[in-house]
Amino acid sequence: MRTTARDDVLGALARGVDVLVIGGGITGAGVALDAATRGFRVGLVERADFASGTSSRSTKLVHGGIRYLPQGHVALVREGLRERTRLFRLAPSLVRPQPFVVPLYEDTRRPLGVRLPGVIRPLAPLGIRAGLFAYDLLAGQPDLRHRALSRVAIEERLPNLRTDGLRAALVYYDGRTDDVRLTHAVLAAARAHGAVAANYAAVTGLLRTGGTVGGAVVEDRLRGGTLTVPARFVVNATGAWGEQVAALDAPPPFRIRHSKGTHLVLRDGAVRTETALVIPETDDGRLAFIVPWAGRPLLGTTDDAYDGDLAAPRATPADVDYLLAHANRYLRWPLDRRDVTAAWAGIRPLISAAGGSTAALARDHMVSVSPGGVVSIVGGKLTSYRKMAEDAVDAVVARDGGGRPCRTADLVLDDTARAEAARAALAAAGVPAATVAHLLEWYGGAALALAELIRAEPALGRPLHPATPAVAAEVVYACRVEMAANLSDMMFLRVRLAAIDVDAAAHAVGGVTALMSRELGWDPPETTRQREAFEAALARESGWVAPPSPADPGRPRTAYT
Ligand SMILES: Cc1cc2nc3c(=O)[nH]c(=O)nc-3n(C[C@H](O)[C@H](O)[C@H](O)COP(=O)(O)OP(=O)(O)OC[C@H]3O[C@@H](n4cnc5c(N)ncnc54)[C@H](O)[C@@H]3O)c2cc1C
Repeated sequence: MRTTARDDVLGALARGVDVLVIGGGITGAGVALDAATRGFRVGLVERADFASGTSSRSTKLVHGGIRYLPQGHVALVREGLRERTRLFRLAPSLVRPQPFVVPLYEDTRRPLGVRLPGVIRPLAPLGIRAGLFAYDLLAGQPDLRHRALSRVAIEERLPNLRTDGLRAALVYYDGRTDDVRLTHAVLAAARAHGAVAANYAAVTGLLRTGGTVGGAVVEDRLRGGTLTVPARFVVNATGAWGEQVAALDAPPPFRIRHSKGTHLVLRDGAVRTETALVIPETDDGRLAFIVPWAGRPLLGTTDDAYDGDLAAPRATPADVDYLLAHANRYLRWPLDRRDVTAAWAGIRPLISAAGGSTAALARDHMVSVSPGGVVSIVGGKLTSYRKMAEDAVDAVVARDGGGRPCRTADLVLDDTARAEAARAALAAAGVPAATVAHLLEWYGGAALALAELIRAEPALGRPLHPATPAVAAEVVYACRVEMAANLSDMMFLRVRLAAIDVDAAAHAVGGVTALMSRELGWDPPETTRQREAFEAALARESGWVAPPSPADPGRPRTAYT
């Protein structure tokens, strides 16, 4: 049997680490990087694939959270905006400014979640402008100030936006990223500082000396068997699973409320999204968004209390109908089910508050230390992962006697010069401009390694399917460098075809399987097993596809594209 990098990682874990991080989403990755840069020997274990939990199922926004402002959560918004500005600087390829349009209509009752009595509704545009002015002030980025849009500009930027009854349209800025790629970038930075990380390694119990936790029992879910990982400190960064992992030591002092959010990926051109669109009110008093992702419009999200399997939240036909119906209130050429190419759901790990809907809870985070010394970091959002990690590792350092300050506030995550070198190398390898743009946005400077793969084997520069930007080199890179372990993860979480366009995924899976077989040395029975497992996963994830109703056979397509 050949030794893989994963075997080396498991070996290093078994020898023991200073800090064992449980959870390989964005929070765990951030904790691993923070602790490694403070000089700790760090190991991270993830029960499934990296970023397979909530960190692959977000709206992909790096934001202060415009809707928290009217709720008075100024400190939370300020913290989000501070982290946003930091990520623009430290990872400029991976996290980019994104303009958003907020349309305000005569009949909007709760713009941005604020209920307006009829008499003051005419003043809504003024009120929203005041809010955006405050948002700009908190962000402190003069080049990204909000402004009003003229009718002509609206028609140009969002030709599909309904304009009857439109009183004003404002543009403001936030950030966009790819959550999975950001997680891998943070993991790569942690590895560069000496951390080791294994996927398919689940913590099933804790090691104790007296009353103190001194490591964990880890199940190897790929090869079978368990290993013990001695660790001076254990950090629980398991998001939606946070409460149950903390309970391995003692009943935790926090509760996590699980809220399911669904997103729809729409066919290319169904809505133009260079400027993202804010859906300014939903029936349950929230906002929704249509944002660009992977060259497609991404529409989300719902917000419903969830008590199902944490590893398998699924989009339903009702979620699809809800999102389409809300978007269609603002669109001239309405969307229908045929415009949806994929749908998926994620679980918000909200710290529990007594009563109220989960929508009313702020995405705040907290650190809690169990009697045995397990540090749990819970709640939060993608945007604030670095600050969450800082707070968690501060708690570790406090237990260690202090003296190791956080170093991530100015730590470059993605080097601009490397990203520029990648751009040049990809162009020199004959990669089309649109593919270069995709690879830089998802991989930043790491695209240099992809360019090298394509230079050595030009066929790897080919798209996996014409409908999505992913290329074959990404499959090889994920196998060789980022520990991709199986076909389903490759399709859903790495090249993401199954999360972007289910039909394209079904067409491209043969090519992806062949490449993975070559890279990972699968024999024919294993290749067949991988294909069957993927088909089963795709069928499970496709429960949102409702058969067209006979009463609504679908309108003729009138979209402008
Ligand atoms: C619908 C939706 C939209 C969102 N949109 C945004 C947004 O636009 N912007 C934003 O800033 N935030 C957003 N968020 C929030 C953000 O996505 C989450 O806060 C963030 O991804 C949580 O990351 P995490 O690492 O804490 O959790 P996760 O990504 O869930 O990672 C936890 C990991 O722990 C692993 N794990 C669990 N148990 C064990 C165990 N025993 N052993 C080993 N590993 C284990 C899990 O497999 C999982 O991978 C959104 C969330 C949702 C649901």
